Amino acid sequence: LGPTVVIGEILVEIMAKSRGDGFLEPIELIGPYPSGAPAIFIDQCAKIGGSAAIVASVGDDDFGRINIERLRSDGADISAISVSPDYPTGSAFVRYRDDGSRDFVYNIGKSAAALVSLTAEAKALFARAGHLHVMGTAFAIPGVWEIMDHAIDAIKQRGGSVSLDPNLRKELLGLGQTQERFARLVDVADLILPSGDELFTAAGVDGESAAVAALFSRGVTEIALKRGEHGSTFFGVDGSRVDCPAFKVTEVDPTGAGDCFGGAYVACRRLGMPVSKALEYANAAGAHNVTVQGPMEGAASRPQLDEFIAVTPRNLP
Ligand code: ATP
Repeated sequence: LGPTVVIGEILVEIMAKSRGDGFLEPIELIGPYPSGAPAIFIDQCAKIGGSAAIVASVGDDDFGRINIERLRSDGADISAISVSPDYPTGSAFVRYRDDGSRDFVYNIGKSAAALVSLTAEAKALFARAGHLHVMGTAFAIPGVWEIMDHAIDAIKQRGGSVSLDPNLRKELLGLGQTQERFARLVDVADLILPSGDELFTAAGVDGESAAVAALFSRGVTEIALKRGEHGSTFFGVDGSRVDCPAFKVTEVDPTGAGDCFGGAYVACRRLGMPVSKALEYANAAGAHNVTVQGPMEGAASRPQLDEFIAVTPRNLP
C-alpha cells in the first residue's frame, strides 16, 4: 500500500566516554552518532526490508550529512528530509551516571530539528504512504499537529494504518494541546507500542487488563508492550496474547532499544509476518541494539537478526 512514514527529529548524539555527573568539567567525548528516536525507528524499519521514509529537517552541516547518508545507505527514503540553510542539525550530549540514568544537554528547540514542516515533499510522501508511525518525542516540534493531521487524513483515506509509540516525556503532556492531541492519536491508532507504564498513560486507566480493554474499546486492534529485559507481550483485539522472552545480552548502551523494537515490529507486520515472528524479530532488534555503543549503531539487518536469533539464549521469563 506504500511506505511506512515517521515524522520527527533527526539529531546527532555525542557521548561522554566515562560515567559521572553532567558536563561540568572537560571530559572525553565520542561521536557524533546519527540519532533521534524517529530516525532510529525508520533506520531499523528499512534494515528489515520494509519500505520506509522519514519527514524531518537537518542543518546544512556534517551532522545532517551523516544522518542523511546513514539513512540513505540503509535503504530509507530521504526525499522528505529538508535541509535548513539557517539552523544547525539538532544535537544531544549524553553522559551515563553510575546508576544507569543519564544527563543530557540538548540543542533541539533552536535547531533544524524544530523546523519540520508540511513541505511539498512531505505532502507527496503522505499521498503514497501506507502507514504512519507516530512517536511522542515529536510532540515538541512547533508545527507538528498540522503535519500529523494531514498525514493521518491522507493515509487513512487510502486505507492505511497508524501506529503510536507514546514515548512520552511527562513534561510534554502539560504543554498546550498535547493532552487532547495525544488522546486523539490513541483514537486513530491501530497499533500501540507502549513501554511499561506508558500503557496506563495511553489508556488513561491503571491495571494491565483494564488498560488493554480500554484501548481496544477505542479502536486499537494490536498492542505490543515492551518490557525491557523481560521481553515483550502482544495483546490482540480478538483476545489473543503472545509473550516473547527477551534475549540474554550484555547491555552496553540502552538508548534506542525501544525505537529498534518498534521499527522491526512495524516492518515485520507490514511484510505480513505473524505476530510471534514479528515479536521475535522486534525483541532481537532491541536486544541487539543495546549491545552496541551509539543509539543507531546497533540497528541490524534481517540476516544479522537471523544470525543473532540462532546463537543468542533467551532470558528466563
Ligand atoms: P528506550 O526508551 O530506552 O529506547 P523502551 O523503554 O521504549 O526503550 P525497552 O523495553 O527498554 O523499550 O526495549 C525494547 C525491547 O528491546 C524490549 O522489549 C526487549 O525485547 C529489548 N531489550 C531492551 N533492553 C534489553 C536488555 N537489557 N536485554 C535484552 N533485551 C532488551
